[in-house]
Amino acid sequence: MAFHVMLVPTLGCPSNCGYCWSSEEGSPVMNIDIIRETVDWLRDFRQEPVTFTFHGGEPLLAGYDFYKEALPLLTKGLKKLKPALALQTNLWLLTPEMARLFKEYEIPIGSSIDGPQELNDFQRGDGYFEKTMKGYEIAKEQDLKVSFICTFTSHSIKFKEDIFNFFLENGFNMKLHPSLPSIRDEEPEKWSLSPEDYGELLIYLLDQYLDHFDEISIMNIDTLCKSAFIRRGTVCTFVDCMGDTFAIGPDGNIYPCYRFVGMDDYIMGNVCDHPTMEDLNHSAPMKLLNEFKDFVDEDCKKCNYIKFCRGGCPYNALAISEDKVKCVDPHCTAYKTIFKEITKRATKEMLKSATMGLGGQTDPAKKSKPTIMSIMLKSY
Ligand code: SF4
Ligand code: SF4
Repeated sequence: MAFHVMLVPTLGCPSNCGYCWSSEEGSPVMNIDIIRETVDWLRDFRQEPVTFTFHGGEPLLAGYDFYKEALPLLTKGLKKLKPALALQTNLWLLTPEMARLFKEYEIPIGSSIDGPQELNDFQRGDGYFEKTMKGYEIAKEQDLKVSFICTFTSHSIKFKEDIFNFFLENGFNMKLHPSLPSIRDEEPEKWSLSPEDYGELLIYLLDQYLDHFDEISIMNIDTLCKSAFIRRGTVCTFVDCMGDTFAIGPDGNIYPCYRFVGMDDYIMGNVCDHPTMEDLNHSAPMKLLNEFKDFVDEDCKKCNYIKFCRGGCPYNALAISEDKVKCVDPHCTAYKTIFKEITKRATKEMLKSATMGLGGQTDPAKKSKPTIMSIMLKSY
């Protein structure tokens, strides 16, 4: 089983998005020595393949020289772990020199845009759209692979058609992200999307996807369908992420995930101490996350989707319960809605094709419309 290490070179960010919970003014920037220590630590930590994602804050604040040193250190120093690399950035600080470097390592880029300019800038701040698109052009000149996360909020959900059409017309693949209540925020609920709205949005996007199957990819719908098909989660939200995902903050502190970076109660150790997996398992945050896992086993035991939902994201659950294990991911309602819809439609499709196999008629000249099964089988 592969594991995932998120490298957070800083929590600083030049943008100031209304609903962001992962940036912090005045945050220090990671020194390259932390990357050296990370390589030394991971060399004998585990033997499975590793994926590194540079995340933030805004990771490009670390600058070209940092990446020029960090990328060979990670890929050569940990060659036996077959490291894969990824980067999540708003692209504002991308230079042609950096883009060439990222191309050399074939690093896929995830960026963020919430839809058409006016809507995006209302949520993310004036000038955001233009700066991100400028970086996007630089990335495209170097033929880098870029996909966009679209954060849907209680405001932007009203414009879901405009947002979907914007992605479709611009040829952007979509990964959607529901705005969440934040553990750090003073008004945690202000932008957050209700579970009911999120569930309806997923069904809307499922329908749109089936209508435009060859024109766009909606990654969440892909993973939801695939998870339901193989009956196992295929992204961190729908598996027991604890112990297979870590994040390293600017000072080398180790956390269970980038979402917890900067929160002292969630420090599991430091890369400079080269902790073993057993050391991390004994840390207070890991005990809390394992408590969440046990809670899910009990609380979700009657749910049809437990095998491929696993109670959702523990951060989302802890964010609304003051860091105590009291509930599952508050998006449970949305997950139930979409898993129910996917399984219902897939069953109907299977019954229909079985009936045809028994002598039902179909016109072979007629091109069939994509189905749930088409999505389920997409990456096979
Ligand atoms: S805490 Fe949530 S976002 Fe982080 S790895 Fe786990 S499921 Fe994913
Ligand atoms: S859908 Fe809800 S009840 Fe079912 S496993 Fe997920 S979180 Fe638990």
